[in-house]
Amino acid sequence: MKANNELFADVILPLPLQNLFTYEVPEKFRDCTLLYKRVTVSFGKKKLYSAIVVRLHGEKPTAYQTKEILEVLDDGPIITEEQYSFWKWISSYYLCSIGEVQKAALPSGLKLESETKVFINPQFEDYASVSPKEELVLQFIESRQIVTISEISNNAEIKSSLNILKSLQTKKAIVLEEKLKESFKPKTEPYVYLSTEYDSDEKLNNLFEDLHKAPKQMALVMGYITLSDYFKSQKRDVRQQDLLIKVDATSQILKALVDKGIFFIEQKEVGRIISEGNSGSKLKMLSPVQKQKFEEIKNSFNTKEVVLFHGVTSSGKTEVYIHLMKDEIEKGKQVLYLLPEIALTAQIIHRLRNVFGDDVGIYHSKFSDAERVEVYQKMLSDKPYKVILGVRSSVFLPYQNLGLIVVDEEHENTYKQFDPAPRYNARDVSIVLAQLYKSKVLLGTATPSIETYYNTKSGKYGLVELFERHKNLQMPEIIVADVREARRKKKMKSIFTPLLFSAVDESLANNEQVILFQNRRGFSPYLECTLCGWVPQCEHCAVSLTYHKHTNSLVCHYCGYTIRNPKRCSACGGTSLETRGFGTEKIEEEISLLFPDARIARMDLDSTRKKKAYETLIEAFQSHKVDILVGTQMVSKGLDFDNVSVVGILNADNMLNFPDFRAYERSFHLMTQVSGRAGRDKKQGKVIIQTSQPENEIISFTKNYEFLKMYHTQINERRAYRYPPFYRLINLSLKHKDHVVVTKAAKEMAVLMRQSFGKRVLGPESPVINRIQTYYIKNIILKVERERSFQRAKDILKDIIDQISMQESYKSLQVVADVDPM
Ligand code: ADP
Ligand code: ZN
Ligand code: ZN
Repeated sequence: MKANNELFADVILPLPLQNLFTYEVPEKFRDCTLLYKRVTVSFGKKKLYSAIVVRLHGEKPTAYQTKEILEVLDDGPIITEEQYSFWKWISSYYLCSIGEVQKAALPSGLKLESETKVFINPQFEDYASVSPKEELVLQFIESRQIVTISEISNNAEIKSSLNILKSLQTKKAIVLEEKLKESFKPKTEPYVYLSTEYDSDEKLNNLFEDLHKAPKQMALVMGYITLSDYFKSQKRDVRQQDLLIKVDATSQILKALVDKGIFFIEQKEVGRIISEGNSGSKLKMLSPVQKQKFEEIKNSFNTKEVVLFHGVTSSGKTEVYIHLMKDEIEKGKQVLYLLPEIALTAQIIHRLRNVFGDDVGIYHSKFSDAERVEVYQKMLSDKPYKVILGVRSSVFLPYQNLGLIVVDEEHENTYKQFDPAPRYNARDVSIVLAQLYKSKVLLGTATPSIETYYNTKSGKYGLVELFERHKNLQMPEIIVADVREARRKKKMKSIFTPLLFSAVDESLANNEQVILFQNRRGFSPYLECTLCGWVPQCEHCAVSLTYHKHTNSLVCHYCGYTIRNPKRCSACGGTSLETRGFGTEKIEEEISLLFPDARIARMDLDSTRKKKAYETLIEAFQSHKVDILVGTQMVSKGLDFDNVSVVGILNADNMLNFPDFRAYERSFHLMTQVSGRAGRDKKQGKVIIQTSQPENEIISFTKNYEFLKMYHTQINERRAYRYPPFYRLINLSLKHKDHVVVTKAAKEMAVLMRQSFGKRVLGPESPVINRIQTYYIKNIILKVERERSFQRAKDILKDIIDQISMQESYKSLQVVADVDPM
């Protein structure tokens, strides 16, 4: 073989490596088009990985001996050119390796690694399709309890390759390690059916006569007849919720009809199954004002890449998105509709499926990995989804011709990935993604983030605003309840001011529903010894443990460390430990004492861990099996309830006093969003904010829906104190198990940084929680003026990080860079 004939491939390994790695392409693969396909390579001590080929060339690396590519895993490319550019951009902007980006971007089923665990699929039956070699592998897996890919491939007898495993995976004979994830979709939903007793016209007429004196029941039956196309040859199934909405009836009326044996209810599977053959097409007409905004947005896209759609809750933003999406699809383009995790609910899935039917693919982190691989593969196929409705990670799907990205609830900080790298913000990177496809981005929200609104003011983004609710629903009335005063007058009933108490009382008396919002889960934030003041702390983190009454335990909300509730004080041995503060669990208990007849439910991380728990709770509340729903911010998002007359914010001070420059902005967002849950359909709702600082300007801006005033005060502070959008931030977190080491390293790092950046460096400082999972933490913040080169600053910073990390004494020091931290 002539040397100049050699072919080399640069690949991305799924590892945090600085560089791409080069392998030699052996003779037998020369004819394949390898670009963007997965290949098997070995790296390090005989470890096998699937890696993606991103460049082919003839330059032999001089620094190391190249190994050969062992196998080619794919028939076609597994990523697109745009994806590769996108990955490179993310890795450079967010200071992480491209391997880390690849890890986040591909579902784990597409990343075969030595350490990946392999299991037999218990449902597999088609053994006829299995080759003898594959059979051998299956037997080997079966003979072990747990087996990894490396164990299989290193076994001398079977000498398996990743190709065989991939083939077995395609045949669904094996499953690769996936943490058992609950399925996110509500699997069933109630559907209404007319009893078979009424299957002749005569019997139906008799029924109508019987119901003559019960007009509401009659209306419900008529509604059913219409929705089900009862007199057509092909009847349709009627969703309970659709029926109730159509005739504006309560579930009690329906129940009466069920009790009489006229209707029966059946739980029916929804989601993937119902969507089969669903052609959608139930598009709603836009109201005149919505139509006008729709046109404004389109016009704005003529000159701007990004447009902010600022519209109050229930103004019909979602309807406008749907019309814009439809336009794109008719042009043959794809659309990405991004939502924060907690806002991606069955309600929005239904609304899109009603219009786009099977053209909608859903991408959610609670999906099993197998489902995610399926979506990913379909996007690569020649029949990709036209619409993807998804969370943060759906920016990584292989789009073929993206036309529009809708980022709903753009103000949500959960668009930012906190851990692990890449620490990206899906809203921000979607703008980069759109540039790659020459498509547009629509940011939507009722409460824009300061940064986004600033970009509209500076002319970078377009702005379209809509301040009337659909059907001119009134905005809820917001009332501020002064906790300090109520305390002074000794008028507090447990956690309730007289105002909130009587509002809840009245609402319950009217058979209406209540949502109570508290930003803290658990029973109470901490226990305290009444004698010596001792507070139980986490062993691994510098935080007090939260008391969970339900499980009678103390839990660390940072690392999960859990102990039984102590009977005695560990300091003085006394036995009088008392709970302090209020979490959702305690509030639930207090309400049941104050309103003994009310049916109460709690919605927070703890109560929604179990499979389907979240959907069950929402269903129970929607069908009014629950009167009062207590919850954390989970209750603030994406849910429309018809019968909620009162929303109570139990403690606004928690949010306002949070030590962060975004605390005020976030409090405004959160309180406004929670308020949006009140009084959607029938009458004006009431929101009561309990606070001991009623004079706080954020409280008054929230009360009067004064977004602009909030914006102006905040933007002035941001300018004065040198925060975004005027400065870009990078937060460096140094972590080490030894407090002395981390302190010393942080000091040295800060000195080096100051040599280059001067006063733009803040810290090192200990964060509020300065120890998490046994690691001590020091933070250093770098502030870079917007008009300065951010890339240059990052290059300098990278060098400094390398200088520190390379020192022998800092070998086990972790340095985490977070660009644009939230
Ligand atoms: P937003 O996204 O601004 O909160 P939605 O699009 O969810 O508002 O609208 C609120 C409610 O009003 C929804 O139940 C929606 O179906 C209904 N709605 C809004 N616009 C229309 C319309 N043009 N025709 C029928 N219903 C509408
Ligand atoms: Zn802990
Ligand atoms: Zn004590």
